[in-house]
Amino acid sequence: MHVAASEKQKALANVHNVQLYIDGRFVNAESNQEFDNINPFTNEKINSVASGGKEDIHKAALAAKRAFKGEWGNMKQKERLAFIYKIADLIDEHVEELAPLESYDTGLPLSITKKMVSRASQNFRFYAEMVSSRMVGDAYQVDDEFLNYTIHKPVGVAGLITPWNAPFMLETWKIAPALATGNTVILKPAEWSPLTANKLAEIIDKSGLPDGVFNVVHGFGETAGASLVAHEDVELISFTGETTTGSEIMKNGADALKRFSMELGGKSPIIVFDDADLTRALDACTWGIFSFNGERCTANSRLYIHEDVADRFIAALKERVDNIRVGDPLDERTQVGPLIHKEHFENVNSYLEIAKEEGCEVYQGRVPEEYKRGNYVPPTILLNADNSMRVVQEEIFGPVLAVMTFRDEEEVIELANDVRYGLAGYVWTKDIQRGHRVSQAVNAGMLWLNSQNVRDLRTPFGGSKHSGIGREGGYYAFEFYTEMQVVHVALGDHNIPQFGKK
Ligand code: NAD
Repeated sequence: MHVAASEKQKALANVHNVQLYIDGRFVNAESNQEFDNINPFTNEKINSVASGGKEDIHKAALAAKRAFKGEWGNMKQKERLAFIYKIADLIDEHVEELAPLESYDTGLPLSITKKMVSRASQNFRFYAEMVSSRMVGDAYQVDDEFLNYTIHKPVGVAGLITPWNAPFMLETWKIAPALATGNTVILKPAEWSPLTANKLAEIIDKSGLPDGVFNVVHGFGETAGASLVAHEDVELISFTGETTTGSEIMKNGADALKRFSMELGGKSPIIVFDDADLTRALDACTWGIFSFNGERCTANSRLYIHEDVADRFIAALKERVDNIRVGDPLDERTQVGPLIHKEHFENVNSYLEIAKEEGCEVYQGRVPEEYKRGNYVPPTILLNADNSMRVVQEEIFGPVLAVMTFRDEEEVIELANDVRYGLAGYVWTKDIQRGHRVSQAVNAGMLWLNSQNVRDLRTPFGGSKHSGIGREGGYYAFEFYTEMQVVHVALGDHNIPQFGKK
């Protein structure tokens, strides 16, 4: 039976308050402070969330260190991986619950959260399988005298700091490799999206994972987040979020020489040549910027359309924008929902004002009157944009596409690369040589040629320039969460220089 979206909103309204999860127990913050969690669809309070700080991080770090040195650290790999598979199974059992919860908390349409949440369990299985075969690395036989081989060991307590867009997927993307490789974890989820992180704590608690192996400290970046970065027992920080936050975190962790993984912002170009399959390019362009409410790091927020096909393409784009279904995130048919938070909504709207001041024509879709309480920004395209504008240079992180035209290959490569970011890029052309040439010339960690954001768990994910340092996913995350050691073994009594011998 089809359940009306408003009924689904009501059904979730009694979700309980959120506590911290430390050392296998759900607890209040030491300070007893809480913050309000707000529904982006109504801007009403959902519940209260324990606001963790320095003392809570310290408690979590002690518990995580104890678990690492004790039961978890000494556990046989097979036993440890059994927990990882169990967590994956439990996530699968809760998919029907997790996806609406995430949509309710973030405003992301249900069609998106369903996909994202079901990918989470795959993260756990993928890394459990990788660990079974990869903890021993390469071996080198040296002159028949030595055998050198590498092993991968867990690093210790891993601090994971995550954003609010696709929270459950991004959290498990870090947690799965961290735990499967034998580390213990403190997760600091984004303050605007605590619900599924809390559900994950409940799921992991149910799995029977030993106390202290997995901890969740909710709270603000400047308090809980900063304390996690500064804590001396936390060996590494995996961060996904804004570029400015990443740079702040690196400064704060520099004295302790923390190991960092940085997945940061983006302002990714989509380049459409005149020989491209324009219908498919239009599908990809529309989906790539307006799905996820535009709150996606790899969103193609800059369109470069070849001048010979620009009029046709832009007319078709406007028609799409007119027809995108803006609605309740819990409605299966909704394509664009409300932005995560009033503050973010105001920030995105301020960019629309800037766009006008900079000389853009702002073309927008429609938000039905009944949704005006929520943080809705209609699908928007900025016409007559150019690379000198702030709206082209800065990440807006909403359903806003800047549109520009170009004349030739050389020009468009220069324009595409003329931003400080380098996360993703998209190229559309039927000319195979040009396709490869331009793809390789665009400075982006990930480039999709005649394709849109399809991802495989084995492939690296991450950006260049101000979009990040390092890569997540596949073997790259495995390397980040492990310490490589070389063991040098003598196969016989080789010659050792004899110092000081008479
Ligand atoms: P944000 O940087 O504001 O916050 C991210 C996390 O960092 C939150 O948990 C926050 O509490 C914490 N934080 C804030 N200040 C901190 C500090 N001083 N010390 C420690 N922690 C701190 O980012 P956001 O607004 O939550 O997320 C949106 C951003 O994330 C966008 O820029 C987007 O492009 C980026 N993002 C990147 C990727 C990627 O893979 N490259 C993926 C998703 C999102």
